[in-house]
Amino acid sequence: MPVTQSKLEPMLIDGELTESTSASRIPVYDPSTEEVIVEVADASTAEVDAAIAAARRAFDEGGWPQTTAQERGRILFRIADKIRAEAAVLAELESRNSGKPIVEAEFDMADAATCFEYYGGLATKISGTVNPVPDNALSLSMKEPVGVAGQIIPWNYPLLMAAWKLAPALAAGCTCVLKPAEQTPLTALKLAGWLGKCGVPPGVVNIVTGLGETAGAHIVAHPQVDKIAFTGSAAVGKIIMKSAADTLKRVTLELGGKSPNIFFADADFEAAIDGALFGVFINQGEVCSAGSRILVERSIYPKFVDAMTEKARAIKLGPPLDRATKMGPLVSREQFERVRQYQAIGRSEAKVAIGGGQPKSFARGYYVEPTIFYDVDNSARIAREEIFGPVAAVIPFDKESDAVRIANDSPFGLAAAVWSRDIYRALRMVRAIRAGIVWVNHMQPTYVEAPWGGYKQSGFGRELGVHGIDEYLETKQVHINLNEQPIGWY
Ligand code: ADP
Ligand code: MG
Repeated sequence: MPVTQSKLEPMLIDGELTESTSASRIPVYDPSTEEVIVEVADASTAEVDAAIAAARRAFDEGGWPQTTAQERGRILFRIADKIRAEAAVLAELESRNSGKPIVEAEFDMADAATCFEYYGGLATKISGTVNPVPDNALSLSMKEPVGVAGQIIPWNYPLLMAAWKLAPALAAGCTCVLKPAEQTPLTALKLAGWLGKCGVPPGVVNIVTGLGETAGAHIVAHPQVDKIAFTGSAAVGKIIMKSAADTLKRVTLELGGKSPNIFFADADFEAAIDGALFGVFINQGEVCSAGSRILVERSIYPKFVDAMTEKARAIKLGPPLDRATKMGPLVSREQFERVRQYQAIGRSEAKVAIGGGQPKSFARGYYVEPTIFYDVDNSARIAREEIFGPVAAVIPFDKESDAVRIANDSPFGLAAAVWSRDIYRALRMVRAIRAGIVWVNHMQPTYVEAPWGGYKQSGFGRELGVHGIDEYLETKQVHINLNEQPIGWY
């Protein structure tokens, strides 16, 4: 593919926008045209080392953990303001690079700004406790930043994931080395150019580009990094956990899912159909919490599959920058091929209600059809493995207990949704489902104020809300003796 611009996007190391000297480059694509937009570096080991050393210095000597919480908060507010001011530019870049519809990219930019605002406010609410020890002493638990955070993020919500990582870390007083996904580094690199003006001191945030297997793995293994926060595939999560064990780093993992979206016969039918489609087709299905297993009570099952199919027919596929587009191309050729493979697997495992292939109307671009498989057995590969594309597996169930059993019969446990007008049943389901997030009569709403993360192989640790900042804090026990006499033991 011809490189339309042979510019190399700089990285942020120690407060400087640094053009990499690495011989290895990564083309960054527009997935709707399959053309290269720009190139980024696959940062060399020396460059990643320099970023980590800068973060280390900013933490150990640069005084970032000692800045007042008020000052850190104000810096985060300025970052939020800048993102809001540049939202149109950022959204366009995000949409073009990731393939997501522009309207969705605009929501993401607003959410990224809100995330910085939330943690800007939370910076001044970190407080410790006084412990009631049985002695003439003052016992304190103090919260302190964990140190240098290595942050590795995926390509589905590029700037928003950067915000979820950077904002709580900075509020806590940590310094950061962030590596965006190689497919979608552009909005994070834009942000990199603004951080200094927002008041972020040199070295406090470093943003390096590179492949997961090289730059990413090096951050994870590096002895000067204290914590790894990762969002991505379960397969890479396992590699990261093993590698981080060598230096006993703190690790938080937000991994994949195969989330059940469960519909009882008494649910509002129209809202249910909408929720089923939105749950699995938003962002082309490239969502860790996608409601990719659609469990439907048998008495409404045929009608439900028909209605979903009918409505899915109207989903408008198109270029990401077209405001009418509801589904853009997948992010990359690799992801396109992966989803195409699962479509083929699905055709052999279940019945096709709609889709199952590539739309005819596009000469190029990584477009796939919104696909609904039905009569899927929960043991099928399309019901067990995360596809990360617009592919739904519809599964019938008979009783509430069957719904619970099927929902929980998964290696994953990120999210789930339950649709019913029966409050008793809905709340029983909330308790019975083993997942980190349960929505009732909705699918996918995500708020920075509420915790996010998974059970089982969907990972551990929580992002967002007050929980999110805890993952960047250590607890120090302080004992202050108030007896003026010697201990008197010897
Ligand atoms: P996908 O397979 O959909 O690309 P990944 O889990 O591979 O999802 O990617 C998520 C993030 O993890 C990306 O930033 C990627 O570069 C990074 N990554 C991939 N492999 C590794 C690895 N071995 N060590 C550290 N980071 C990695
Ligand atoms: Mg990968």
